[in-house]
Amino acid sequence: MFTYLNPEIRERLIRQGSLVRIDARGRVLDPRAQPSSSELALNVLGPIPLPIELAGISLRVDWYASVRSTELSEVESLAGTLRESGGQHLFSVLASSMAVNSVLVIGSPSEQASPLVRVHSSCLTGDVFGSRRCECGPQLASALHRISQDPAGGCLVYMAGHEGRGIGLWAKAATYLLQDAGEDTYQANRSLGLPDDSRDFSDAAALLQYFVGDRPMRLLTNNPKKIADLASAGLLSVEPVKHVIGVSEWNRRYLDAKRDWGHRIESEDLEDPGPS
Ligand SMILES: [Zn+2]
Repeated sequence: MFTYLNPEIRERLIRQGSLVRIDARGRVLDPRAQPSSSELALNVLGPIPLPIELAGISLRVDWYASVRSTELSEVESLAGTLRESGGQHLFSVLASSMAVNSVLVIGSPSEQASPLVRVHSSCLTGDVFGSRRCECGPQLASALHRISQDPAGGCLVYMAGHEGRGIGLWAKAATYLLQDAGEDTYQANRSLGLPDDSRDFSDAAALLQYFVGDRPMRLLTNNPKKIADLASAGLLSVEPVKHVIGVSEWNRRYLDAKRDWGHRIESEDLEDPGPS
């Protein structure tokens, strides 16, 4: 049945506790059972030690990869069919359709009263290319730095399927062209017939409950909707911690639009950041 990962390796990972399955509340499930199509279940692989050097910050984290059990089992069964028909060269196409989220654990957040956490939406242009049209890159680096400096430690959940607030990289590229023709970031989504924000935070809520537990946590965010979405996914004791960084002449209009939309960003946060 499981042909994407060699079944023997998979079984070994389960036995040694490196591959677990959790439900929407972060509770541990049987990873060998057939996943239910109606209930959220996440397979989590790790810890994998990662030494990180990002924007001048050096730290060590434990990386966990997470994917929905239903998505993984679809890919696994399609991979079996492909293997039988000699189509191994298509494996990369199959695997690239899966949203594999990541958790970077810093310190021992499960033992702390109120760890610091961040749920970061993937942004290729900002996180990887260092684009300043948004502030995602500085937010990511600063979040890792702040968590590593916090006595309680914490974790960062990196949401792989959240590009362009959930519309995907292709549509996000189109919104950039619309923005350059005068629309703001939300108008541009609407012009394409797409929602302002279609991100789903249920995976993040499950992962935070698994890694932190039921205790309160502090979340690096300016976005009250993120707090509300996590609460509706069962994460109730989340205190927002302001996270404004990376303001530049290139993204001030973008941040203005976010503020008008409801983000907690003050006018003085957007004032001249000086040379950078
Ligand atoms: Zn971005």
